[in-house]
Amino acid sequence: MARRKIIAGNWKMNMTPSEAVKLCAELKDLVKSDEADVVYCVPAIDIVPVVEAVKGTNVEVGAENMYFEEKGAYTGEISAAMLKDAGVKYVIIGHSERRDYFKEDDVLLNKKVKKAIEAGLTPILCCGESLEQREMGVTMDWIRLQIKSDLVDVTADQVKELVIAYEPIWAIGTGKTATTEQAQEVCKGIRDCIAEMYDDATAAAVRIQYGGSVNAGNAAELFAQPDIDGGLVGGASLKADFGKIVNYK
Ligand code: PEP
Repeated sequence: MARRKIIAGNWKMNMTPSEAVKLCAELKDLVKSDEADVVYCVPAIDIVPVVEAVKGTNVEVGAENMYFEEKGAYTGEISAAMLKDAGVKYVIIGHSERRDYFKEDDVLLNKKVKKAIEAGLTPILCCGESLEQREMGVTMDWIRLQIKSDLVDVTADQVKELVIAYEPIWAIGTGKTATTEQAQEVCKGIRDCIAEMYDDATAAAVRIQYGGSVNAGNAAELFAQPDIDGGLVGGASLKADFGKIVNYK
């Protein structure tokens, strides 16, 4: 069965709640699609108003992060149950900005992935190499390590529902996109890794996005690749261009 595309915006630390509601209204008609799942991953404080603002549309809401503990004395953190109760469907886990600035490692990310799944959220699990790693020729070794570590004790049935985002760090927010060949090669490498860890059916089901300076001009070529099932989009998700990315064909 063909995999359904999934195109997710990562708003990062942008948009106050009132700006967020305005953006949802501006994008509402532009992001309509029968062919792709459309997700806005928004800052925690925007979740409640955005869930309300997208009611009755084709847009689902995602969070940009969560904590793995059930509840308790974790000042400033947000639990999976809180996200679920607020109407969130997806949660980005392991974005390179969180790995880098907030020192999130694969042991922590594995706990987050498992907790998100347990709570009924769909993780968008991010992986990707630095420019130095690409130049050293260890891209696929690094990404396989990330995937294998982040999915410890996650079952095949759970992986089938997962979204993995391949995001080369050197392409995020830089305007430098990976070439179509580079993006396809790594997304295929991730699918092969899942096949080795689980089985062919699981590998065929898991959706793998490309992220890194996706825009209205390059989305069609990237998303046409056999192993690229859509995109995780930062900068371009905050403007009307996001509608063109969703309707890339
Ligand atoms: C991202 O934030 O995940 C991302 C890919 O950003 P950008 O599209 O701006 O490169």
